[in-house]
Amino acid sequence: VGDSADYDSEVESICPFCGVGCQVSLKVKDGKVKYVDGINGPANEGRLCVKGRFGFDYIHHKHRVTKPLIRREDAPGKGLNVDPENWQTHFREASWDEALDFAAAGMKGRGREIAGFGSAKCTNEEAYLFQKLIRQGFGHNNVDHCTRLCHASSVAALMENVGSGAVTATFNEIENADVAIVIGANPVENHPVAATFFKQFTKRGGKLIVMDPRGQALKRFASHMLQFRPGADVSMLNAIMHTIVEEGLYDQQYIDAYTENWGAEKAHLADFSPEAMAPICGIEAEVLRDVARTFAGAKAAMIFWGMGVSQHIHGTDNSRCLISLALMTGQVGRPGSGLHPLRGQNNVQGASDAGLIPMFLPDYQPVTDDGVRAAFTSVWGSEDFSKEKGLTVTEIMDAVHDGAIKGMYVLGENPAMSDPDVEHARSALAKLDHLVVQDIFITETANYADVILPASAFAEKSGTVTNTNRQVQMGRPAVPPPGEAREDWWIEVELAKRLGLGWSYESPADVFAEMKQNMRSLENITWERLMEQNAVTYPSLSPEDPGQAIVFGEGFPRPDGRARFTPASVIAPDDVPDADYPMILTTGRQLEHWHTGSMTRRSAVLDGLEPEANCSLHPSTLRKLGVAPGEHVVLTTKRGSISIMAREDRAVAPDMVFVPFAYVEAAANVLTNPAIDPYGKIPEFKFSAVRVEKAESD
Ligand code: SF4
Repeated sequence: VGDSADYDSEVESICPFCGVGCQVSLKVKDGKVKYVDGINGPANEGRLCVKGRFGFDYIHHKHRVTKPLIRREDAPGKGLNVDPENWQTHFREASWDEALDFAAAGMKGRGREIAGFGSAKCTNEEAYLFQKLIRQGFGHNNVDHCTRLCHASSVAALMENVGSGAVTATFNEIENADVAIVIGANPVENHPVAATFFKQFTKRGGKLIVMDPRGQALKRFASHMLQFRPGADVSMLNAIMHTIVEEGLYDQQYIDAYTENWGAEKAHLADFSPEAMAPICGIEAEVLRDVARTFAGAKAAMIFWGMGVSQHIHGTDNSRCLISLALMTGQVGRPGSGLHPLRGQNNVQGASDAGLIPMFLPDYQPVTDDGVRAAFTSVWGSEDFSKEKGLTVTEIMDAVHDGAIKGMYVLGENPAMSDPDVEHARSALAKLDHLVVQDIFITETANYADVILPASAFAEKSGTVTNTNRQVQMGRPAVPPPGEAREDWWIEVELAKRLGLGWSYESPADVFAEMKQNMRSLENITWERLMEQNAVTYPSLSPEDPGQAIVFGEGFPRPDGRARFTPASVIAPDDVPDADYPMILTTGRQLEHWHTGSMTRRSAVLDGLEPEANCSLHPSTLRKLGVAPGEHVVLTTKRGSISIMAREDRAVAPDMVFVPFAYVEAAANVLTNPAIDPYGKIPEFKFSAVRVEKAESD
């Protein structure tokens, strides 16, 4: 941190990492971002975590792609073999015209043979343009992004039962709560600034109930820590709700006024007594009962959840239980109450809102609805496109293997690291006859590209992003893109022109104006207003309204204004331990690294703090294996094997291993199971059977 003498200019923007969406001030000197301060955004109130404060220098990294690149005719085969210092063996530099012509020529007129992955790292305008390009340009809905890998099952359950996929209250509302549940989330590592508000809540007497198969730092602040058996979420939550029914602790008035299907839920819960569920979830019956009484007795209570809930083949059922728990106790729509899936990436909420989803156009309007498609094609001035729901991230990779999809346009995603059973995704990428990758680095996915279009980092572009709180915020450029790199919206527009789509946007503001025509969520939110105020929460009821932090106090956007109870039954994980694979693998993030590591592993401070791929094992497990902390173990599942450094961690149960997925040299997703939740189509990243062995040489 310095003073004004240390920089030439300062620009207000948004942190590029997690869904908290902290507002930052980028301090610029000699054309480079020198340091970052937190400013008073509605979510962060001046706070930043280590990533937001120190993780910005990747934007000036020497491995940035600064010119369009086309794969050389004499390049060695596609794969993870591009040396970032010596990429010339695989690619040659090209002019923008040549690269764009080449990219478009390989896609034009190929209809269903082309699919697209957009990005939650891009702005709302860029996400909107991307889904429009695929739908208008190729006539179908095979367009998706990483929401499929994080909260798609939460959104499926919320859409089904509440009628809206976004949070019902901001996380800051916890200051008005007296009880909060945090389940399947580790906010201290993954939403660190939100975690500071959670800690403050406990300091002033709030009761925090943490539920997670792994221990975590919030445990210290919790009134209850339920370290339940992995995969036993539905059993545990149904047992808690059973107690609420049995002891008459539900809110009959609220249920009568605002919900439907209560009778079915109540009857379903009869089979889930705490005594019967205790051995399954590994939590004593009396603790389950105490949690039920604590939550139901709250004046105002919130439920927060993360990917520990969503990344299961029963992820939608997990979320259904949380929704039912909030509804039966009337904990939605009032100050200090609500449902809040903590969204992962800084713009995964916005990219989903903007229609980067195979089954929905912007604002979750179904592609299957003729009237909805007509409204969009009328604004777009184009012909109708398919009414069939498109394929999701993992289904697209399957379709590549089946030969139905032959080309892809990938903007800012890294499926060669992020997909489950990643060798399946990598072999699909290698099979494509035309892969266009738009990114800031030669990522693992770009290793397979036929053409790489050099894009912009967050500090180099204009555009809006929407955080986990539904706050639409303005990002501004502080420095120009390096070399010939360009803003993503510009690249999309140039490609669309070459695909014959006749686009004529001159700025992201033009795109935002078009989005507003078919997105009611953006009513009363204008580009000019965001430039002036930095953030507006949707829905905003008037040009003066800063937006509604809490929604659904007067009913839900569903038939008759009623939310729905959908009973959830127990579904076992897909890949259960056996004699060959006796332990449980779970994957996730760690504080210092972001997702597939493409940004944070190129940040000096963050990579300095966590430079090496690591996994966490209980001390008793290490002892049994004869492995000292710091030595390597080999992890093997039915999909593959990695060698990785072992860390001692009492937070992990003795039969579990936790692996962060940011490290290409020991990629966690070599191991993970591609089985998906049938509703959200999200893979079961949180549970695979695994064998752990001491590595032969260290
Ligand atoms: Fe960035 Fe999230 Fe950290 Fe805020 S909490 S600084 S948004 S990574």
